[in-house]
Amino acid sequence: MSSAGIDAGRLERLTAAHREGFGAAPTLAARAPGRINLIGEHTDYNDGFVLPAAIDRDLALVASPRDGRRLRLRSLNAEGLADLDLDALRPAGAWHDYAAGVAAQLLAAGHRLGGLDLTLDGTVPLGAGLSSSAALEVAVARALVAANGLDLPDRDLALLCQRAEREFVGANVGIMDQFISVFGRRDHALFLDCRSLATEAVPLPLADAGLALAVCDSGVKHAHAGGEYNRRREECAEAVALLRPRLPRIANLRDVTPAELEEARAAGAFAGHDLAYRRARHVVTEDARVERTVAALRAGDWGTVGAALYASHASLRDDYEVSVPEIDALVMIARETPGVLGSRLMGGGFGGSTITLLRRDALPGFAAAVAAEYPRRTAGAAEATVYPVEIVDGARVATIG
Ligand code: ADP
Ligand code: MG
Repeated sequence: MSSAGIDAGRLERLTAAHREGFGAAPTLAARAPGRINLIGEHTDYNDGFVLPAAIDRDLALVASPRDGRRLRLRSLNAEGLADLDLDALRPAGAWHDYAAGVAAQLLAAGHRLGGLDLTLDGTVPLGAGLSSSAALEVAVARALVAANGLDLPDRDLALLCQRAEREFVGANVGIMDQFISVFGRRDHALFLDCRSLATEAVPLPLADAGLALAVCDSGVKHAHAGGEYNRRREECAEAVALLRPRLPRIANLRDVTPAELEEARAAGAFAGHDLAYRRARHVVTEDARVERTVAALRAGDWGTVGAALYASHASLRDDYEVSVPEIDALVMIARETPGVLGSRLMGGGFGGSTITLLRRDALPGFAAAVAAEYPRRTAGAAEATVYPVEIVDGARVATIG
């Protein structure tokens, strides 16, 4: 029997590990997915649009309440037992900070928590840009809410998980990862307005269309990614400052259309500031591409979706300058593979993954092309992994046993 969307075999393994680790039978199970982002990159912190979807890589857990004030966690994917005091939760620079942070935020919001033992099992690759961190936070949040009988609307739960990552873990993250892990819907993408937090489920019937999505992890992650990310944020702020004399109403690049940007440039707004102009051009055209992709999905026009992915990549590479040769090689290999509709860098950049839209029957050919060509084009410096992904529902929790 499956529970909370966790299949029977996995639930059995988790239950056995929980009994062995904690000497108790679990009473609840929770599952929260990782995600892809179809399009909308570096738009979130500019108050813009993103289009993520939840994937069949997730964090599954089982849990049992215990007397006292301890939160104990074991992950089948990490070393050691975390044995935490609910009344003295502090960041430890460890994997369990993501869970402790959620508990700390619930307590800070005035909720009462009792002791809980949790056993976790993740299938989202860690640090590959598929958001294993939000999957962990959201699954733990669901478990804590259910175990303690709390009343917490989904939207507040997602925001609370984001606060946990920002304030407890100390990662300057947007809201996309937590929102999609909570609100994901099978065979749908989520059109998310990062300013209003309004969401709209957009049909993404890949299988019906004979299509698939594949994530390709480049195996490279450059150490300077964090510094570059902060620089891009500053460059966007600079672009807004340069535009404001002409467009006083704007708070953010979200408020600028591609036509307005071009008019301002023609009027000299970016004289001597070509870099800020190009950064802004990426953001405003990317927002427009997200909207175009949503319209194309609603019309079943997959060719336009694929073209938008390629255009997004070119913009990230040339205007935003967050790609690297390894990622460009993966997109080029995709382009050369028959049956591929579109491909682009996914995530912050300077390594990480690509997302590729392709015919389902082209998957083996794409995987083979990556295996053969990527080592050759990167001089064997890195190894790439291809993950086909299915689009699934958001987080669930259920009582078991
Ligand atoms: P991403 O979210 O892109 O996968 P992050 O750096 O944001 O990358 O989060 C990855 C971190 O989340 C891991 O280093 C680990 O600390 C934690 N984590 C995620 N899933 C698990 C898991 N199943 N078990 C233990 N830790 C996990
Ligand atoms: Mg993360």
